[in-house]
Amino acid sequence: MSNRPYNFSAGPAAMPESVLRQAAEEMLDWRGSGMSVMEMSHRGKEFVQICDEAEADLRSLLGVGDDYAVLFMQGGATAENAIIPLNLIGRRPEHKADYVLSGSWSKKSHKEAQRYGDIAIAAAADQEKTLEGKAQAPYTWMPVPADWKVRPDASYVHFCSNETIDGIEFIDWPTGDAYGAADVPLVIDASSHFLSRPMQIARAGVLYAGAQKNAGPAGVTVVVVRRDLIGHALPVCPSAFDYVNVAKEHSRFNTPPTYGIYLAGLVFKWVLANGGLAGMEAANKAKADLLYSYIDGSGFYRNRIHAPVRSRMNVPFVLADESHNDAFLKGSAEAGLLSLKGHKSVGGMRASIYNAMPIAGVQALVDYMREFAQRHG
Ligand SMILES: *Cc1c(COP(=O)(O)O)cnc(C)c1O
Repeated sequence: MSNRPYNFSAGPAAMPESVLRQAAEEMLDWRGSGMSVMEMSHRGKEFVQICDEAEADLRSLLGVGDDYAVLFMQGGATAENAIIPLNLIGRRPEHKADYVLSGSWSKKSHKEAQRYGDIAIAAAADQEKTLEGKAQAPYTWMPVPADWKVRPDASYVHFCSNETIDGIEFIDWPTGDAYGAADVPLVIDASSHFLSRPMQIARAGVLYAGAQKNAGPAGVTVVVVRRDLIGHALPVCPSAFDYVNVAKEHSRFNTPPTYGIYLAGLVFKWVLANGGLAGMEAANKAKADLLYSYIDGSGFYRNRIHAPVRSRMNVPFVLADESHNDAFLKGSAEAGLLSLKGHKSVGGMRASIYNAMPIAGVQALVDYMREFAQRHG
């Protein structure tokens, strides 16, 4: 292995180094085919094998059976925010859908959906709230399912299970009974913690994730959709975005992002070889515990998120004295710790520690943070 810097980018994000090396080796000639994967017909037997194997590996990682379609689409989670209402809101004649607002990405999903029907807010973390005796600022906590107001005739209820920008993760996904609307399926934007831990797919009607956070390169969107929810697309839904077509043609209705699917497939094999989702969870828990416990004990750095919903993937933090921000970022880059600047909407710093980040990278970050705090504290 080389001495590449540790990359804490929120996305596109670090890939497993062994995957990059394998892709480099296979770049000019994929397994004696005489072609790079990006030169292959998407209908040829080589790419069909690559694509079908990626789907099969992903199914085995997630433990999903044939009652769900597993689709590789394009347009990112942002396009999916439109593709979902286009496909699902017509399930019921009222064309209603409800959204839980827990941070930046769920707010965007809610806004996009408004073009397509009667959209309501089921719950929002937009107020200060006292939790466990501590005042929590807006968008530093997660509304509990018992407080969601889901209309019984809604076509679905949407939430984001990991708010990448805010650093909030919601793990124990509710059944319909928990939010009082058993017939209203859950639609989940899991982009930034997809494959980071076992996922309760059986509770999801639809789960979607842009690959570039934790599952591959930008350009592939993974959509896992319960088959009984397919087949209700609005007449204006583009045919390439109609789940009926994409599912029927095994993600090859039109030209899919072939090279991205190949790389995502290599990542799925890497996850399988490293203990599957349980293996990822154990490693990710150790990494997050290391970083949060240092931050909490430091007296110099602070994370504001309600502790039970802190994200294991995206760890935002602020310095006690923000006038040191530029020095912190300059020094961290020099120390081989890349992309630690926080999202512009929340400021401060953010360390994204996805599957491909080894614990040695988190340890190097903590060592740097400790040394910086000693110099500036
Ligand atoms: C990154 C991200 C998105 C947006 O992804 P695009 O590929 O840019 O559309 C949406 N939701 C979440 C949770 C994300 O992390």
